[in-house]
Amino acid sequence: MTIYGTRPEAIKVAPVIRAIEESSALDSVTVVTGQHREMLDQVNEIFGIVPDHDLNVFAHGQTLNALMAKVFTGLDPILAQVAPAAVLVQGDTSTVAAASIAAFYRNIPVVHLEAGLRSGNIQSPFPEEANRKITGQVTSLHLAPTSTSRANLLRENIDPASIAVIGNTVIDALLHTVAQGAPFTDPRLQDLADAAQPVLLVTTHRRENWGGAMEGVGRALARLATALPQYTIVLPAHRNPIVREAVLPHLEGLTNVLVTEPLPYGEFTRLLALSTIVLTDSGGVQEEAPSLGKPVLVMRDNTERPEAVEAGTVRLIGTDEERIVTEVAALATDPTHYESMSRSVNPYGDGHAAERAVAAIGTLLGTGERLPEFTPIATP
Ligand code: UDP
Repeated sequence: MTIYGTRPEAIKVAPVIRAIEESSALDSVTVVTGQHREMLDQVNEIFGIVPDHDLNVFAHGQTLNALMAKVFTGLDPILAQVAPAAVLVQGDTSTVAAASIAAFYRNIPVVHLEAGLRSGNIQSPFPEEANRKITGQVTSLHLAPTSTSRANLLRENIDPASIAVIGNTVIDALLHTVAQGAPFTDPRLQDLADAAQPVLLVTTHRRENWGGAMEGVGRALARLATALPQYTIVLPAHRNPIVREAVLPHLEGLTNVLVTEPLPYGEFTRLLALSTIVLTDSGGVQEEAPSLGKPVLVMRDNTERPEAVEAGTVRLIGTDEERIVTEVAALATDPTHYESMSRSVNPYGDGHAAERAVAAIGTLLGTGERLPEFTPIATP
């Protein structure tokens, strides 16, 4: 039983759900909590997944505790009725923490996809760092994307035999989707693709950046629009009104800023592929952009994804307005600097993580054997 609730979870579990459906040894049951609503439905639609159960927990402005309580009470009867052989959760949302505890309380083994990511700071990202540590404590099979994430789990005394390094399924999803070359439904994006102008792609949503920091992001974007008139700044705006109210007022009337609704995954990956620079506080985008050879500036002070930072294609720049302007301008105007950050690297996956996940689940349930682990191709 796969339980998930938000857009990034849906993108990363979709290749595994598909692989479970194709396996002869396992049956698939899917449960969505609906922690995100439209953005989640959008991804399910693209991957052709029709959830078997929908808890529909979304409510505007609800607290994390109200959300957790709804997930617990909604899931318990489904776990009792279906009695799955194992529960699969992905990542670090409140859905994941609640679902993994709910399964554990019913003595159902938990499989954690994207296990072992750690920033080392319980307050940042908040509440994700705590969510993934809590989940790790009740997990029977840790599907770690990289050897760095395995090392994090070993440091927490997790049994090595319960960890499999499989790569990140986001790369499976990305390769599958980019190959399909989705058409842009927004004509402004099609015009952008036709014009072949430089593009600064921006996404922002992190809870710990809400408020002053996000206002600063809005001001920085407005200054960049003026300083870099040759660039088009594209911001697919997150659905959360707190994000929109902080950023969008700063961008009104700027002709080279294009604000869109959240893009369907196919269109987003196509936009990523044609972008020049990526500015983001997203986890998934930090993993996807390097494999498309795009330099990424991350608006956070730390990251649980150090691999691409070490490879030199991702740079942590924080949320200071001045720093954002300086760092983007440096990439846009210094070709040597740009060149040094735009090598294509794949520290996160090779497109076969879902197969390894299903094989490892087979080992847990006594129906199969693990595949060789993921090892990234060394970067020059
Ligand atoms: N994404 C998308 N449409 C958008 C923006 C992002 O499909 O308009 C995808 C993106 O490719 C990545 C995921 O959503 O796979 C990232 O989601 P988000 O930034 O919301 O969450 P995080 O990865 O930070 O948990």
